[in-house]
Amino acid sequence: MAGEHRIDPGRVAALRTREDARFAAERPRSAALLERARSLMPHGVPVSWMATLWDHPPFFVAEGRGATFSDVDGHRYLDFHIGDTSLFCGHAPEPVVRAVSAQAARGAQFQLPTEDAIWVAGELARRWGLPRWQFTLSATTANVEAIRLARHVTGRTKILMFDGKYHGHGEDTLVIADGDRLAPEYLGIPAETAGRARIVQLNDLAAVEAALAPGDVACVLAEPAMTNLNIVLPESGFHEGLRRLTRDAGTLLVLDETHTLVTGPGGLVARWGLDPDVVTLGKSIGGGIPVGAYGMTAELAERFEQPLEHGATGEFFAELATGGTLFANALSLAACRAALGEVLTEEAYERTAALGRRLADGIDAAAAATGLPWRAHRLYAKSGYWFSSDLPRNALDVRAGDDLELRALIRVHMANRGIWEGGYWLGPCVSVAMTAGGIDRYLEVFGELLHELTPE
Ligand code: PMP
Repeated sequence: MAGEHRIDPGRVAALRTREDARFAAERPRSAALLERARSLMPHGVPVSWMATLWDHPPFFVAEGRGATFSDVDGHRYLDFHIGDTSLFCGHAPEPVVRAVSAQAARGAQFQLPTEDAIWVAGELARRWGLPRWQFTLSATTANVEAIRLARHVTGRTKILMFDGKYHGHGEDTLVIADGDRLAPEYLGIPAETAGRARIVQLNDLAAVEAALAPGDVACVLAEPAMTNLNIVLPESGFHEGLRRLTRDAGTLLVLDETHTLVTGPGGLVARWGLDPDVVTLGKSIGGGIPVGAYGMTAELAERFEQPLEHGATGEFFAELATGGTLFANALSLAACRAALGEVLTEEAYERTAALGRRLADGIDAAAAATGLPWRAHRLYAKSGYWFSSDLPRNALDVRAGDDLELRALIRVHMANRGIWEGGYWLGPCVSVAMTAGGIDRYLEVFGELLHELTPE
């Protein structure tokens, strides 16, 4: 459906060549650092996806403050990627800097609780309506432990997920649907992992029902709205159906709000009145400091406190498999308390939702001004653009209608003009530090590119 957006691929390629050349030429210091780093780290970066995520070369960062950050070549970027939503609080948010500095000076880690844990668990309980919480160091590990909890409680193995999902780099979630078959999503994942998953399309309740029917699914793991193949929204009635079907099947419903927590104080669970058994969180709840969390019902929490159990084959299990020497360290929880208490306020969510609307209105206006049939999707702070007037219903629609060449051009074009666009899978996201002026600058640069792409 490349014709949907009515842009000549030859023109996209020509502009991309121009913009890629400018991008490379203007970043000599980063290029030199990358060259030096190649003998020390694969791809010259400390985690290899830092190089492979982008269609342009990675660059080295100097510092960040508020809505912007700068690179070692002196370029400053208005940040709409915000670290894959992990910087929703903005760069170096003052309350988090203050709390983390004070805690670091008093000791960052004890393998014992600090009082901040009680405050944070209470605040998450108030926001998400689930009474008991545990902490990890990332959303991935929150999902790993939520899956273990579900398997233990149900005595079942399989996990049901939606096509196009991403729930972190835990083994069990790195599985994709390859036609009718499931397969490991990346190298290094054993083939048998696929045997522990089922994958269906979002908004297909009949497929959910069929996948749950054998009675072997421990949990459905889902984002309330999908955010890792741009935005795919659930249709009206979908969540009610999902809750009913999971309850009927004795399957736990785990909602991953790692990204969607940018939409409101209690994420989409609170905005939409959803009723999961478990919620998993990470990224921005620590204001940029590593932390993950999962909340659960009191009934599920009891399973952490039950007496020792013997496994089916007589082996002895002391407790549920939770982990991480540094999980729930004092520094993470101090950061989380400051982020939740002083940055991620009701007012901040109302303001970012309004900025998200301003962004969506501007995207629709820019498309109309150039005659492109594009449409903005609207999800509070996480508004963005889609290349046709019909928003996608599921991953199949996204794969058919997306244009990754065009997204690569948009990204490099904007980077060359001081806008750090959201990754191709994510699209733009507004942070608490963003201003109306920042949105207007984004729209100005976006609009200029649309005009270049649609010459009269
Ligand atoms: N859940 C969702 C919905 C995510 O998008 C991600 C990361 N993009 C994760 C979990 C994993 O987060 P992390 O990489 O911080 O562990």
